[in-house]
Amino acid sequence: MTMNVQEPKPRISLMVFTRDLRITDNPALSASLKNTKTYCLFVFDDSLISGSRPPLNRLKFLKDSLQDLALSLKSIGGELIIASGKWADTVLDVAKKIHASEINIADDYSTYATNRITNLENYCAANKITLNKHPGISIVEPGVLAPTAGSEYKIFTPYFRKWINASWRRQAVLPKTIEFGKTDHQFSLSQKSKDLLSISSSGYGGETSGSEKMNQWLSRSSNAYNSTKDVPYLDSTSHLSAFLHFGCISPLNLAIQAQSFPETENFVRQLCWRDFFLQILAVRPDASINDYRNRNDIWAKDPESFIAWKEGKTGFPLVDAGMRQLKAEGFMHNRTRMVTASFLVKDLYLDWRVGASHFMEHLIDGDIANNQLGWQWVAGTGTDSNPHRILNPIRQSERFDPSGSYIQKWVPELSGLTPKTIHDPPLVIRQQCGYPEQIVNHHDAVELFRNRRAR
Ligand SMILES: Cc1cc2nc3c(=O)[nH]c(=O)nc-3n(C[C@H](O)[C@H](O)[C@H](O)COP(=O)(O)OP(=O)(O)OC[C@H]3O[C@@H](n4cnc5c(N)ncnc54)[C@H](O)[C@@H]3O)c2cc1C
Repeated sequence: MTMNVQEPKPRISLMVFTRDLRITDNPALSASLKNTKTYCLFVFDDSLISGSRPPLNRLKFLKDSLQDLALSLKSIGGELIIASGKWADTVLDVAKKIHASEINIADDYSTYATNRITNLENYCAANKITLNKHPGISIVEPGVLAPTAGSEYKIFTPYFRKWINASWRRQAVLPKTIEFGKTDHQFSLSQKSKDLLSISSSGYGGETSGSEKMNQWLSRSSNAYNSTKDVPYLDSTSHLSAFLHFGCISPLNLAIQAQSFPETENFVRQLCWRDFFLQILAVRPDASINDYRNRNDIWAKDPESFIAWKEGKTGFPLVDAGMRQLKAEGFMHNRTRMVTASFLVKDLYLDWRVGASHFMEHLIDGDIANNQLGWQWVAGTGTDSNPHRILNPIRQSERFDPSGSYIQKWVPELSGLTPKTIHDPPLVIRQQCGYPEQIVNHHDAVELFRNRRAR
């Protein structure tokens, strides 16, 4: 007698990559591969890649990161499906086509990310698919550390004290036995995403180059971080921000590795700023647009000054150098991010949102939490405990670029000037060099700012 015993169907899972584009310490991927046959997917979200001013630098980096991820998955037997469309609809569509009973994803916290995950949650509930959200974007997930009163830490230092002493999650490892699903189905790609896949390369995105850069920087340069991190021309910081933004490297893995090198406390502290801002955004997602703390500003409107700022033609050499670096490289040193942002908000009294949006258009590492809350920190509408702090662009230049080397690199018309004159060239020298006069008088502007804030 033959018994007709049906083989149990394998559980099928869909791993949806978002900004966790790596296979090392990827909790969502590891969980997905545990006992389930896993299909891997990335969706070009139509609404993020269209728009009149798409962030080209970031998109190039994303493209490289996806190519690298596809190769990494291939090396362990998997494949990366790339589709495009409305994000949640497309994820559901793929999940249904491969008969997934579960979807695994890294949790994320901006208004946009939260909305699309909520949409997906609703779709999954209606289609009897389990949606599992995992950590992985930060070192300590938002909400894990809560203050005694209130729902988020509003000041960095108390958060840092808790964070550094908290027990961090264990790094995720891939299970020993893994099974990937493969599909012949061609998922449609919009023209925008096809264009995107054919744009030129950033030359360095992805987990492979991110890990190399991380290892090299930790072993060669991290011990000088404390003494050199504030000096723009030394360019000695890690340049890992874009890799962290897209999750090409794991922030947890980076922090743990960094701790095994000497003199890295300050570097690990900087990594904590990411988590700090993210835990704020998780509770106050509107802080990406609205003032976290309202200071009753009625911002000035001055299109000409805004253009001068964007073009690096304010007549303040350090400000101009920073703005020109941003345009040329899609990167700016942290010190000059602070100086240029302070100049826009405090000297020109222009809305931090217009500055933040210009940064987001150009930065390869453009990140809603770090950028918008970084801007608000400078503007004094955010988490800074000293909202009236003003950075004097000339004093900052003398202090952090004493030799003028950073200015000479990015403002070539001033490259022949000595350290004595380069920070604030006299009028006659400006005219000889073809360099503009200052568009505002710093001291008058500061006075005006203080009066406006006191209203
Ligand atoms: C106005 C303004 C806008 C900013 N916009 C962004 C942004 O869009 N994306 C972004 O990643 N960072 C932003 N920062 C923070 C910081 O300037 C960059 O993270 C840093 O310059 C990146 O260079 P790095 O990787 O060499 O940094 P490192 O000094 O090597 O620091 C290591 C990592 O720590 C994190 N980090 C360092 N400083 C900060 C900080 N102040 N806030 C949050 N995280 C930090 C970053 O992930 C960085 O890669 C902004 C800062 C300001 C003042």
